[in-house]
Amino acid sequence: MATEYKCTVCDATFAAPRWNGCCDDKTLKHKVESVRYFSRFKAFTCFPIQERKGIDVTTGEKFMVPGVAASFGPQGQYTTDDPEIQAWMSSRGGGALISKDQYEDIHAPGLRQERMQSQLVETADALAKAKEALASLRAKIDTPEDPNVGTEKPSKRGK
Ligand SMILES: [Zn+2]
Repeated sequence: MATEYKCTVCDATFAAPRWNGCCDDKTLKHKVESVRYFSRFKAFTCFPIQERKGIDVTTGEKFMVPGVAASFGPQGQYTTDDPEIQAWMSSRGGGALISKDQYEDIHAPGLRQERMQSQLVETADALAKAKEALASLRAKIDTPEDPNVGTEKPSKRGK
């Protein structure tokens, strides 16, 4: 069973190699959710769509359909909503493509660590707050009713 795609423009469901036919236009390609790909190499370029021959059905004239290059640019990232390119990336792009985590380890070492660190700090903060809340709750339970609680004079507020 071939992978089925759902077009984000016309809602049609289609499968390879029926990339065209968006909105009943044979020359218009369907589009899918964008996917971002990460490359092991900066400025990596591959050619998911090769140049190919086409024939104009009305004139019978032959012409060349230009290929499409995927250029990962200086950041080593490439985003596409072209289902044909996505299909190529998942089947043939393999060796040069890496996961987002791997990408960050290679291109931005420390970034993931920083993020994990800040998550740890947040968790620690939340834990400290929870402990504080629990402690004050316990204190309230343990302490008999204090008439002074909640009778702070309004004039002291906001200073
Ligand atoms: Zn479509």
